[in-house]
Amino acid sequence: MTNVTIDGERLWSTLMETAEIGGTPKGGIRRLTLSEEDRRVRDWFRQACEAAGCTVTVDGVGNMFARRPGRNDALPPICMGSHLDTQPTGGKFDGCLGVLAGLEVLRSLQAIGYETNAPIELVNWTNEEGARFTPAMMASAAFAGVFTTDYVLSRQDRDGVAFADALDAIGYRGDRPVGGRPLSAMFELHIEQGPILEREEKLIGVVTGVQAIRWFELTVTGAAAHAGSTPMPARRDALVGAARAILAVEAVAQANGPLAVGTVGILECRPGSTNVVPGEVFLTIDLRHPDDATLDRMETDLRTRLAEALGGLDFACERIWLSPAVHFDPTLVGLVRDAAESLGLPHRDIVSGPGHDAAYIARVAPTTMIFVPCRDGISHNEAEETSFAQCAAGAQVLLNAVLAFDQTLEG
Ligand SMILES: [Zn+2]
Repeated sequence: MTNVTIDGERLWSTLMETAEIGGTPKGGIRRLTLSEEDRRVRDWFRQACEAAGCTVTVDGVGNMFARRPGRNDALPPICMGSHLDTQPTGGKFDGCLGVLAGLEVLRSLQAIGYETNAPIELVNWTNEEGARFTPAMMASAAFAGVFTTDYVLSRQDRDGVAFADALDAIGYRGDRPVGGRPLSAMFELHIEQGPILEREEKLIGVVTGVQAIRWFELTVTGAAAHAGSTPMPARRDALVGAARAILAVEAVAQANGPLAVGTVGILECRPGSTNVVPGEVFLTIDLRHPDDATLDRMETDLRTRLAEALGGLDFACERIWLSPAVHFDPTLVGLVRDAAESLGLPHRDIVSGPGHDAAYIARVAPTTMIFVPCRDGISHNEAEETSFAQCAAGAQVLLNAVLAFDQTLEG
């Protein structure tokens, strides 16, 4: 085994330095994908990777690849990485930790002139969050061949700006083809974004897979009417119907507990006037479960309950995204477990609740993830917090797992 050691101080100061790009007064980050802040952090990332001895290339949807050559450069690269975009009021660790810990691995290898068998590539995936352009993780999905490049480029944000135009505006439409090349492996370090590791006082989550996710858009149509002169029996109030629909989503998740979750995260009420009965409501539904078959039944249940909840109103419920349950590569999962074990770090196996870029890459390459705790399980929030020691532990496990895998390849 190897005894290359990462520099926890350097990792931490890098996390704090880049957190200032789009930094918010409450200590979080607002770095929406393809924004000016995203351009600035990308420029920073490119320079830092070049300084660490890498060549940086960009593909047609803005994914960035920093490549450190290996002894046998013909081998497909071993990849590490995550994302540098954030939610509108995001934290300092979601995504950033995976990219910057990967950078710390590269810097540590460079510092001692360590030569790997395979080339190593550090990836910054575009638009993991899906906060500005939906769906989330579309650029890693395109790399994996799940979406076409044209589909990604044509997506629009809520102001009608096309992804392609936003990408061009920040100068990050690269000339590399999107995907279509083999990877030896993909490792993504990420904060857990849930409370399990902290509650059990584990430092490392050995991630065995990602639960299945389905997104829906629900439009409820009633009739806008005067709030003063329309008697209650004569109303077709879309928002009252939507309220029952939201409770139906909650009921579906409750009925499939404890692992099922269901969320309504966006609600738009039209026309949005104090004295007008709402005529139309748009809302989103996010349903998840580790098991595909259970999620199937949850969708059927949801549709039945929506029909009951929305009786008397018109509605359309469209499934806009589906991500099947993911099972990570057993060899890589084992290497992460071994790394945590040999470093003496308390660990447990865990299934990811959130989706991640790694879930798409798992379709085209051996892939796994490493989790570290975050305080109170809070994420997608400016208060997100992972300690110095937790970040350093995750980065060290990442380095050890990558090098252990590299030693299984022919130099
Ligand atoms: Zn993330």
